[in-house]
Amino acid sequence: MRDVLLEKKMLDEELSSNAMARLLREQHSLLASADIGVVFIRQRRVVRCNERFAQMLGYASAQAVQGLSSQMLHPDRDAFRALGRDAYPTLSLGETFRCERQLCKRDGQLFWVSLTGRLVHPEDTTEGSIWTLDDIHAQVQMRSQLNSIQLETQLLLDNAMVGIAFLQGSHLQRCNRHFELMLGYAPGELQDSHARRWFCTDEAWQGEAARSIPTLSAGHVFSGESTLCRKDGNKIICEVRGKVLGKGTSVWILMDITERKRAQEALRKAHQELESLVQDRTSALRTATKDLDREIQGRKYDQERIYWLAHYDALTGLPNRTLLAQRSQQAIRAAQESGAPLAVLFLDLDHFKHINDSLGHRVGDSLLVLIAQRLLATVREYDTVARLGGDEFVLLLPGANAQGAERVAAKVAQAFARAFQVGQHDLTLACSVGVALHPHDGANFDALVQSADTAMYGAKREGRNTYRFFTSQMQAQSMRVLELENALRRALERQQLSLHYQPQVDTSTGRVLGVEALLRWQHPQLGAISPAEFIPVAENSGLIWPIGEWVLQTAAHQLKQWRNKGLLQLTMAVNLSARQFHQPQLADMVRRVLQHTDVPAQNFELELTESMAMSDTHSALTALQQLRDLGVKISIDDFGTGYSSLAQLKRFPSYKLKIDQSFVRDIDKGDADKAMVNAMVRMAQAMGLRITAEGVETEQQLHFLRSLGCDEVQGYYFSRPKPASEIEGFLLQKSQLYRC
Ligand code: C2E
Ligand code: MG
Ligand code: MG
Repeated sequence: MRDVLLEKKMLDEELSSNAMARLLREQHSLLASADIGVVFIRQRRVVRCNERFAQMLGYASAQAVQGLSSQMLHPDRDAFRALGRDAYPTLSLGETFRCERQLCKRDGQLFWVSLTGRLVHPEDTTEGSIWTLDDIHAQVQMRSQLNSIQLETQLLLDNAMVGIAFLQGSHLQRCNRHFELMLGYAPGELQDSHARRWFCTDEAWQGEAARSIPTLSAGHVFSGESTLCRKDGNKIICEVRGKVLGKGTSVWILMDITERKRAQEALRKAHQELESLVQDRTSALRTATKDLDREIQGRKYDQERIYWLAHYDALTGLPNRTLLAQRSQQAIRAAQESGAPLAVLFLDLDHFKHINDSLGHRVGDSLLVLIAQRLLATVREYDTVARLGGDEFVLLLPGANAQGAERVAAKVAQAFARAFQVGQHDLTLACSVGVALHPHDGANFDALVQSADTAMYGAKREGRNTYRFFTSQMQAQSMRVLELENALRRALERQQLSLHYQPQVDTSTGRVLGVEALLRWQHPQLGAISPAEFIPVAENSGLIWPIGEWVLQTAAHQLKQWRNKGLLQLTMAVNLSARQFHQPQLADMVRRVLQHTDVPAQNFELELTESMAMSDTHSALTALQQLRDLGVKISIDDFGTGYSSLAQLKRFPSYKLKIDQSFVRDIDKGDADKAMVNAMVRMAQAMGLRITAEGVETEQQLHFLRSLGCDEVQGYYFSRPKPASEIEGFLLQKSQLYRC
């Protein structure tokens, strides 16, 4: 039994040592294959460790670590002590000590491990302790990174100027402070609240959800604008961006753009106002610009028009005197420099006044325009045709000498040879031309034009319808006109004027029916001056009006005296000048004179020239009517020399025609004048007018006129015009039958 027991004991021992060995083997292989480091430390030295431990600390094998001081595991003495100090209370109680520490590798590199320690024999620290080490370096690093990320995130959330909210489903999981502030809530007040709370109405919330869900569920970022409701009920407008993070979590970033919106709206309104202001201003500016443009155009037009009016003749469009003077000065300068000749032609229409008076100014104006056109056609391009006014034209011919000027004068005459057609009128007229040459007849414009004008008067004097070169004789002539004008101004007061009377005799009986008063001027130095010479001077100087009045008064006075002497049937004929005729006060003046002298109007006769009488102007007809109303007789003098219209003659309130002496003078010379006088007599008879023949000098003339049945005659044959005292006897003798 003992053996058995021994054997059993031996077997037990054997079994036990085998088991121990197996256990040790198992333990060894367990430690060798474990992923954690295991180390047995006694007396602060490594007694034994597994390979993993050695590897963790950077040693080639567990062998290399055995016997090393446990202090080498720690970065410094303090860390080593601290571990001992921390671990001792726990270990000494027989409990397991756990901690996370930084250990030091063989190469000095620190790394984090999770340490678990336990005494081999509880309550006996001398037996050493066993430590397991788990390398958590990567874990600790990640944790610290995570921490710092969390820290940063929190920092961001706390400092973000946007509201950030994390939702789980529709409930707020967390949010930053800005989000709460935006919606007016206290910290944490919104925690777990439903997102509906941020909206003003259910519809607003549902609308928002409907709007965002499709985008969010597609995994996209939703962005939009939402109107949210603050705790105090005020609305705010937010720019919202949202994204699903997963597992029903979504993040929302909200930015309060209420102010921006307000500012934008204000800006939009301001912009709109500005735009409308700009538009208003622009349109005002445009209008103002247009007005200004129009004004500038108007001013430009006005300026051009003013310039044109100042330099051109409004009727014909020809240069006027001003422009002519400018061009003449240029031409004279050029002529002086080059020595080239220069001619000036002064042109005056013959009897243009007759046309004006008989056919009216409109016809006269149209005729002037046609004449201007023809004149332009007669000259070269660089010549100037100017109208000085009335019926006066000037042709400036640079480079033209006497021959050249003569050629142009001939061309002008040719231009006038054809009739001018004005309306239904075929008008034939001529012109008188005076020529002056530079520098002989004048060194400057005024002198040249003056000389040409004087030469033109020379052409007029010599029968008109011709041209004359300026001569020194003409100069004298124009000097004479000046002299006469000056002398005439004093003629009345110095009693140099007188009237002569020429009888008008009844052709068949030889009785004196009346007298024609003819003006005479006896100047102490100049001698007797013919009315044919001084009447035009009086007309041109305006002296005709006082002189004409004097003639009327004197003649009326004389008639009164003769009437007192018994010549009661005697008629006094007085000549009227065209200038007098166009004075509106004429009828008043005649009435005054008649009243003053107390002679009957029917014994007074006014002689008007044919052209004056034929004038159809309103004023002419009015004047005639007024004179006739006074009761004075009106006769037409120099009949046959003007442009009579039979129609007008019929309307004209005259009672007598006076055949011009030029027809009477030539009666003896040929049948043509006879026929003309005959026609005139017949016409007067047919129209019921009396007819007088002027300038009867011979018995043959008288005989012929008598044979025609001409009513009255006047001429040297009976008597020259004589002073009242000289003619009186003749009158008394030849008018006996009329005495009462
Ligand atoms: P007139 O009215 O035709 O007068 C007739 C002119 O013929 C007068 O010339 C007269 O002397 C002249 N005469 C008369 N019989 C004969 C004759 O048988 N043979 C010739 N060769 N001549 C004769 P005078 O007096 O030299 O007057 C010339 C013109 O002057 C007048 O023509 C008249 O138009 C104008 N005249 C004369 N006196 C006045 C006046 O007081 N006022 C106005 N406005 N004109 C006047
Ligand atoms: Mg007369
Ligand atoms: Mg006459």
